[in-house]
Amino acid sequence: MTTTVPALSAASATADFERIQLERRDLRPDDVRIDIRWAGICHSDIHTKREEWGEASFPLTPGHEILGTVVEVGDEVTTHAVGDVVGVGCFVDSCMECAPCKDGEEQYCEKGGVQTYGAVGYDGEVTQGGYSGQVVVRDHFVVKIPDSFTEDEYAAVTPLLCAGITTYHPLKAHGVGPGKRVAVVGLGGLGHVAVKIAVAMGAEVSVLSRTDAKKEDGLSFGAQHYYATEDESVFEELAGSFDVILNTVGAGIPLDAFMGLLDRGGVLHNVGAPEEDLTVSAFSLLVKRRSLAGNMIGGLPETQEMIDFCAEHDVTATVEVIDAGQVDDYYDKVVSGDVRYRAVIDTATL
Ligand code: NAP
Ligand code: ZN
Repeated sequence: MTTTVPALSAASATADFERIQLERRDLRPDDVRIDIRWAGICHSDIHTKREEWGEASFPLTPGHEILGTVVEVGDEVTTHAVGDVVGVGCFVDSCMECAPCKDGEEQYCEKGGVQTYGAVGYDGEVTQGGYSGQVVVRDHFVVKIPDSFTEDEYAAVTPLLCAGITTYHPLKAHGVGPGKRVAVVGLGGLGHVAVKIAVAMGAEVSVLSRTDAKKEDGLSFGAQHYYATEDESVFEELAGSFDVILNTVGAGIPLDAFMGLLDRGGVLHNVGAPEEDLTVSAFSLLVKRRSLAGNMIGGLPETQEMIDFCAEHDVTATVEVIDAGQVDDYYDKVVSGDVRYRAVIDTATL
């Protein structure tokens, strides 16, 4: 027995999304059923659907920025109740026994955690994501949306489930706060949230965007400085002037040029996941003992911490709410860098 819900689904890498009916499983004792209200479009959805990261599993319903209301809970669920407003990010299951799982870094599960869509779950079923009316998720992978966020803000809270945690983790891990000079490369979905979080952490924040087109917005998000990297003189002007550079670009960038902007001991932290390799010269690291780092989203405890931090500091994404029929067009808009700054699907239009 399953429940049938409306969803968007792509039959292949090149096919447009179609409206379909999707089956959601009956609840296991530790499951939560969520009526989805909003679903963000992350660039990772596009890399996946277009098979830029290799073969994808079709038919595919993407979506790993999910916000909605709990409508049913399994017998053993104690942490969530019917009526709670909750979120789901990139993972819906993991082994819960290996060292990363025990450390609350379920995304690095040694058995291989189960991603929210396009992954084979431990029951052998392929997962399907948030561009749908409902989702059924193991309780541990469900995040509480703090009460201080209002219903009007929920669409803008939704991107925090991926863009928020992916950028909060490195900013926190590198001790971003007062006195730290932080640059965010790429003012897209992840980048604009990174700017807002780094500002909330008290850092001195610079935006490194390709052009001046987003300058007013970048400064309105709280960044103190904004530079257009199409002007190559920026790389001389800013040489050695940052402690942390967070690269959020989903395409290849010349890492060595950006490495040159780090001060002694600085770190270039990459979260972008382009299909091409990112390469770096050994000397970019040796000079000024710089380092290069990366991360895949964040674990569940840190995701809850991030949402609570954002609620406390009034950080939400800046979003364009779209209808289900606009998703194909918005995939192109995301790739051309034209979305201001995250597209979120109103699932009532599915
Ligand atoms: P996005 O909304 O498309 O933003 C990326 C930004 O990068 C664009 O707005 C643009 O900013 C800049 N950009 C785009 N194409 C560029 C190019 N050819 N050269 C230089 N800059 C370019 O994407 P997103 O959703 O933020 O995701 C960004 C990347 O992070 C993707 O690769 C995604 O898969 C990855 N990701 C990784 C994780 C993780 O766990 N590590 C999680 C989520 C997403 P400007 O216009 O300001 O230059
Ligand atoms: Zn994502």
